[in-house]
Amino acid sequence: MLAEHPQLGCLAGCLSRNRRNRVYRGETKRVVIVGGGFAAVHMCEELAKQPHDIKITMICPNDHLDIAWASPRAIARPETANRNVIPFHKIFERSKHAASMVTHVHDTVAWVTETYVETAMSCEKYEYDVLVIGTGATYAEGSEAKRLKSNHTSMSGKDRVKELRELAERVKGAKGVMVVGAGPTGIELAAELGAAYPRVPVKLVTNKYEIGAGMPKPVKAALQQAFVSRPNVTVIAGERGSVLDAKRHGCDVVFMCAGMEPNTSFLGGGSLKASLDEKGFVKTGLTGQVLGFPNVFALGDCAKSYAADGSGMEMMSERYRREHDTEKFARRVCALNVLRCIAGEALVDKAAKERRWWHAVGTHRGSTAGGGGEGYVYPGAVISLSPSDSVGYVQGSVARGWYMAARKRKDLWRMRLSKKLTGHDGPHYT
Ligand SMILES: Cc1cc2nc3c(=O)[nH]c(=O)nc-3n(C[C@H](O)[C@H](O)[C@H](O)COP(=O)(O)OP(=O)(O)OC[C@H]3O[C@@H](n4cnc5c(N)ncnc54)[C@H](O)[C@@H]3O)c2cc1C
Repeated sequence: MLAEHPQLGCLAGCLSRNRRNRVYRGETKRVVIVGGGFAAVHMCEELAKQPHDIKITMICPNDHLDIAWASPRAIARPETANRNVIPFHKIFERSKHAASMVTHVHDTVAWVTETYVETAMSCEKYEYDVLVIGTGATYAEGSEAKRLKSNHTSMSGKDRVKELRELAERVKGAKGVMVVGAGPTGIELAAELGAAYPRVPVKLVTNKYEIGAGMPKPVKAALQQAFVSRPNVTVIAGERGSVLDAKRHGCDVVFMCAGMEPNTSFLGGGSLKASLDEKGFVKTGLTGQVLGFPNVFALGDCAKSYAADGSGMEMMSERYRREHDTEKFARRVCALNVLRCIAGEALVDKAAKERRWWHAVGTHRGSTAGGGGEGYVYPGAVISLSPSDSVGYVQGSVARGWYMAARKRKDLWRMRLSKKLTGHDGPHYT
């Protein structure tokens, strides 16, 4: 009808061309997604939104999405731990397409070749046309920090809530808690625990000479002031803490929140070994495509973006966006490129403009070419210290009562995320 109209004909042509470009129709292609965190779930959702001829298999040992950034809050306020967990079936049931297109395989991937992945428990092989790796990163074994995220051993949502509540009990009854590492995670954890358990001494140990190192000056000052108001929290600066120091500091619960390790050991023995950097992160370009492997994509905490030839450092502006907006990267860049890869089209970097903006507003202190270097200061963030205290900053301006800071600290967006993914505020467990 539209096409027959003389003026609207070209609009109809344009619309149908766009649709043809966006929708792949042909032999059903198999997309295998490894992982079940934010990266994987947002990829599944986005890919399933459009009626492409694809079949998505998400392989993850857990049956739930774990809201990792809220685990300090769950330990500090265990009555809210059930808000940290969203069952996959509620996420995928909600969307008509996802329900029919996404299959969740309850297993861990142990082996990857250029054509299939193999699972650890059932030893099943899943062939793929496109592989997406979103296995995240975790803190090392040996301290309670490992439990800040659902790890890769099989766990139900119910057990995850139980695990967080048991950890809360241990903290509540502890002689002392030692948190090593004063990055955002260490700061949030020490502050939340300090506020929730005023009788438990909390030691925040950092090898830097102050907390908030690398953050703008007013932010550091605001954080230091926040810790002064918690008499049970002591900052021990200039010390490289280890689990062995806990006794000396009178602590029997330790969180080593320094340096996450990517969950990519399953790639180390197979043909994708060449995709890993020296720390085990998967090397990708800005499109999410793994360098040297055209039909493999990686995103989230397990991946780092490199220059196209694989040389040079990770681009810090990219790191900002990846760390602070896994969802946007998954939906706007990676999912789009998976579909383009399937359709045989050139990949695009849709977020280039946005990234340039973030890069322009970020502060550089002796950064290296290509935007790399540890001297890059993130242009803005909200560090939540308790349900009633947070430090928010944009471009170095600090506001403890800032609207976004106040919104975030209340519930850490858990209800909002649940509503968005399942249609319900939650909690989904008791
Ligand atoms: C305490 C804390 C506070 C944080 N605060 C913030 C914040 O304020 N803002 C922010 O943006 N980010 C924050 N983060 C980071 C944020 O949580 C991560 O960036 C995000 O979780 C990354 O998602 P992901 O999907 O890459 O990895 P993950 O969430 O780690 O998910 C990885 C998934 O892969 C699965 N998996 C692992 N290995 C395998 C395998 N071999 N086979 C199959 N599945 C596997 C795991 O079980 C897991 O389900 C915080 C993190 C922590 C721990």
